[in-house]
Amino acid sequence: MLKFDAVVVGAGPAGSTAARVIAATGARVLLVEKKARVGCPVQCAEYVPALISLEVELTAAAIAQPVQTLVTLFPDGSRTLTSAPGYILNREIFDSTLAEAAVRAGTELWLQARVVDLKDDILVIQREGERLKVKAALIIGADGPLSPVARLSGWPRQPLAVAAQLEVVLPEKLENTRVYFDPLYRGGYAWVFPKGKTANVGVGFIPGDLTPPQALQHFLGRLGWQGQKVMRRTGGYIPTGGPYPEVHRGMVLLCGDAGGFTHPVTGAGILTAVLSGRLAGEAGSDYLSRGTSLTSYETSWRGLLGKTMARAVNSRQHWQAEWSMDNYCLTKLLSKTWF
Ligand SMILES: Cc1cc2nc3c(=O)[nH]c(=O)nc-3n(C[C@H](O)[C@H](O)[C@H](O)COP(=O)(O)OP(=O)(O)OC[C@H]3O[C@@H](n4cnc5c(N)ncnc54)[C@H](O)[C@@H]3O)c2cc1C
Repeated sequence: MLKFDAVVVGAGPAGSTAARVIAATGARVLLVEKKARVGCPVQCAEYVPALISLEVELTAAAIAQPVQTLVTLFPDGSRTLTSAPGYILNREIFDSTLAEAAVRAGTELWLQARVVDLKDDILVIQREGERLKVKAALIIGADGPLSPVARLSGWPRQPLAVAAQLEVVLPEKLENTRVYFDPLYRGGYAWVFPKGKTANVGVGFIPGDLTPPQALQHFLGRLGWQGQKVMRRTGGYIPTGGPYPEVHRGMVLLCGDAGGFTHPVTGAGILTAVLSGRLAGEAGSDYLSRGTSLTSYETSWRGLLGKTMARAVNSRQHWQAEWSMDNYCLTKLLSKTWF
């Protein structure tokens, strides 16, 4: 049986950050990723706030387009402009740069390696046709919205929105990000996030009357972009419930989407994945080196993100309870719960 101080599951922004922080203290860290290439295929609209550069070094190659303003289009036809400086990323490059930093810090990275079981401190990992047993003093679940680590450790499933997205060639250059609300996109919204000559065009919502592909077609029709050349198709799940009441159990910590750290209203989760990954990594390395309690992670994430998350959970609850098919009632609700 192989032994590591820490095993981090999932090499997204949360897992690579946690692994880097722990490995930097000299601990033996394994980062397990089921994909063949980190960050590929991309399942994201790729917007990050400019604040991200306080946490990670953004290379020029990781940035597709800087943006300054968010234009929100409401169902009653009104619109607002909000200052939202940030970047549309090349997410594959962003994610692989974070994983490379973890490896430079001493992390061992296994690609095409899938965690299939977890009992106590032993993980079963499927890799190159073999089932390997790996023992760890600390396990970090950074394995995304469906988190097998969370399921295997007894956490319940989290509420999820579903997103469908295309990257299309833009008819003309766009400077800003755009968000569109429509009663049909229940509990969510559609977006256009520009990346130079192309844009990520998507819808994320709670499916009911429409399936995600139908909602996306509806949105393309609204934009008049049904004929635009499609470069890429993607989609995925977005947690909407906020962080679990507890994101640590025994020697398992959850961070990023796995822990519910995605903003329950905007669905943004890249920055909070990096932040929660760092905090999980810090608590984990103190636990490994000094034997401090892993509950320090609960305290640190609440200190940094608690208020924002609580407000957003509250707005999400209003969306769930009061979403309206009437354009004016829905705009009224959004005026209290959107920016
Ligand atoms: C369509 C869409 C658009 C989005 N747009 C934005 C946006 O514009 N801005 C924003 O901030 N957020 C956005 N998000 C959310 C954002 O993508 C996530 O919040 C972010 O990726 C979370 O990072 P993470 O590291 O927690 O998880 P992930 O990036 O999901 O990484 C988890 C990793 O775990 C791996 N994994 C899963 N199971 C296993 C296993 N059993 N064994 C090994 N590895 C495993 C996965 O392969 C994956 O690489 C969007 C999400 C979707 C679906």
